[in-house]
Amino acid sequence: MSTPGADSAPQLPDYVPVPESALGPALNADGYYVDRVQDNLFWVTDGTYQSAFLATPAGVVLFDAPPTIGGNLRRAVDEITAAENVPNTVTHLVYSHHHADHAGASYLFGDVVRIGHTETRRLLQRDNDRARPVPDVTFEENYTLEVGGSRVELVYHGPNHSPDNIYIHFPDHDTLMLIDIVNIGWVPIYNLNLSEDVPGYLEAPDRAMEYSWTNFLGGHLGKLGRRDDVVLHQQYIADIVDSSHAALASVDPTPYFMRYGENAWAGVAGYLDAVTNAAAAPVISKYTGVLAAADVPALTTTTTFSILQSIRLDLGGGSQVHP
Ligand SMILES: [Zn+2]
Repeated sequence: MSTPGADSAPQLPDYVPVPESALGPALNADGYYVDRVQDNLFWVTDGTYQSAFLATPAGVVLFDAPPTIGGNLRRAVDEITAAENVPNTVTHLVYSHHHADHAGASYLFGDVVRIGHTETRRLLQRDNDRARPVPDVTFEENYTLEVGGSRVELVYHGPNHSPDNIYIHFPDHDTLMLIDIVNIGWVPIYNLNLSEDVPGYLEAPDRAMEYSWTNFLGGHLGKLGRRDDVVLHQQYIADIVDSSHAALASVDPTPYFMRYGENAWAGVAGYLDAVTNAAAAPVISKYTGVLAAADVPALTTTTTFSILQSIRLDLGGGSQVHP
């Protein structure tokens, strides 16, 4: 029992400093940073979320509208279009996926043409959130959007982080936007960036690398990515996969089931926690100081748990058939 007062303050652990390589540029007084990616493609960040836009002679095409950036999207668009001497009217808004943390400021742009995958439309109809109007234009496999002489390719490769998450390729701007898969310079947040389809999430960086690009927009934190950043993420994930297989082969479940007897779930939980911790420990030590927040135990541990469960449930690993 804790009592109110000085000793009710939580005991907070220390972590290693965020590597310099993981930190983005400073924000302006309004709390955002906007810069050219290439030619007339620009990106905006508040340090935690990212958005992008094409500034064309026929209007602005916005890619995602995270509510944390919110009104600063308008400010960033106004700032850039004034400098570029093109109209500041947002005519199109592309949804990467239906999640509110990337789309919840969509309503700020009123009556624009919204474009998204058919599954994004279905999920937004389900969610019935006035902040995220359903897309007017949908596609199943791919869609080429051309506005004011600028071209972008929207491609669906199946479920990954979410059922509807798409690849946004700017072939004329040497850029790929793929949200909530790779956090540049950082480990994924809990459970592989809260991903719903683990095999789809694991293969997404490989698909991303098949495209031609130099600049990568991952949707989170304050930096633009390069191909080396995606390779580092792939190594971190591959190490977790390897370590998970090793832990499944080496941790003996017997003591957990012996100890808890008819409380089957206590035995299962004890065993799975032991496998997860054994698999995560070497990865946490290897990446501490390399990827930011690798030493925050819950992050690598829950990501390892998701991968372990996918090895068991999707791949059939560690299953024993009763004789
Ligand atoms: Zn998401």
